[in-house]
Formats: sequence, structure tokens, C-alpha cells
Amino acid sequence: SKKPYRWQRVLLKVSGEALAGDHTENIDPKITMAIAREVASVTRLGVEVAIVVGGGNIFRGASWAGCSGLDRSSADYIGMLATVMNAIFLQATMESIGIPTRVQTAFRMSEVAEPYIRRRAVRHLEKGRVVIFAAGTGNPFFTTDTAAALRCAEINAEVVLKATNVDGVYDADPKRNPNARLLEAVSYHDVQTRDLSVMDMTAITLCQENNIPVVVFNLQKPGNIAKAIVGEKVGTFIGC
Ligand code: UDP
Repeated sequence: SKKPYRWQRVLLKVSGEALAGDHTENIDPKITMAIAREVASVTRLGVEVAIVVGGGNIFRGASWAGCSGLDRSSADYIGMLATVMNAIFLQATMESIGIPTRVQTAFRMSEVAEPYIRRRAVRHLEKGRVVIFAAGTGNPFFTTDTAAALRCAEINAEVVLKATNVDGVYDADPKRNPNARLLEAVSYHDVQTRDLSVMDMTAITLCQENNIPVVVFNLQKPGNIAKAIVGEKVGTFIGC
């Protein structure tokens, strides 16, 4: 039988930085609209899409704790709340073009969004709704990349698609080294040992332990999100 799409259910990770784009404000509405349109184009094809949003465009716990004397846990809770703002923004954008979307938060904010309930999230996906997971894992000292790996494993999504502002994983920092090469594929081990700064260790290890591949790609190139979601070759593939 012909299987037209490689992925049936994907976990799209959108970092705060990617949401900000080149905008001077925290969020670029052109980016959220582009995400909404591309997600719409693939959900129409029957691909189930769950999204984990970051919060780094608004607040990063670790850096604030470092420079302000704030304790790390408090700073991280503020960071998690930042991801909720992004999630609601993205949800409103998606619904403005007719995509049914639910936000589920890792800790309760019942007036604002549903609490995270795994079976309910899966049911939403089966019904063709997009589910946005907010507030990371709900725990300080973690990242939204780890939340992406965790939710991906929990809902049996097949891949983490990590949307960033760079084309993929390079063998050196492309901003500092003009000879840096974009890598087509790397192993989990490479990510862990070669300081490729793709994902934190907790996130990449969780992916490795659960055989979840990660595709790192540039969100700013039109069409890339849709390409990544239907399994076309884009960016860097991390697996094996
Ligand atoms: N955060 C947290 N636990 C989580 C996920 C996120 O404490 O499970 C906090 C942490 O302070 C982090 C902030 O939320 O700095 C924003 O998330 P992240 O830095 O992962 O966002 P991104 O880099 O994707 O924009």
C-alpha cells in the first residue's frame, strides 16, 4: 500500500526565540501566522500535530537567577508562565484561521487552559485538533526541549521537529566560523559529545532512550514547517 506521509503524529517544538523572529517585541505575529498556516496545511492532510512552545523570548529562568539573585525555582516558574503567554498567542492565531486548537498546561490554570491530561490530549489529536502544551514539564530546572521530548514520548508521537532560527546543526558555530558546515544527519552520541548545542542533555537523552528522532530546521524559511511535518528532507536529522 502507498503511504504518502512519513509522519502520522508529530511534536513540533517552537522556541521562544523562533517566535520572536526579527521583531523588536517578544512575538512576531507574522511568524505565528506562518506557523498557523503551515500547520493548517498539514492537518488538512490528516497529520496530527502537537506543539510545545518555549518561553525564551520573554523570560529564561536560568539567566535571571544568575544575574538577579532570584532563586532558580522562582525564576523557572516565571519562565514557565512565559510559555503560557506564547501558547495562548499561538492558539488565538490558529483559531483565527479556523484551526481547532487546545492549550494544555503542565500546572493548573483552569480559567485559561485545560490541565495536561494525556488521554485527553491524544483524543484531541485524533479528532484533528492541534494541542499546544504549555508550562514546559511543570518543573523547575527543566527546559521546554525536555518537555517536547517528554510529551512526544507520552503521546506516542513519532518525531520531535525542532523549529529554530538556524538551518540545522552545524559542525561549528556558523556565526563565528565561516567554514561551518551544515550537517545532514548526526547521532545522539554526536550531539552529546561534540558540543553541537542543539538541545540540552536531558532532552537529547530522553529522545535517545525512547528512539525519538529529532529534526532541527529553520522556521523562517517559508514552507519548512510543512515540509518537516510531512517528512520531507529539511534541516538536520538526529537519530541512531
Ligand atoms: N522552564 C522550566 N521547566 C520546564 C520548561 C521551562 O522551568 O519544564 C522555564 C525555564 O526557566 C526556561 C523557561 O521556562 O528558561 C523558558 O523555557 P525555554 O528556555 O526552554 O524556552 P525556549 O528556549 O524554547 O524559548
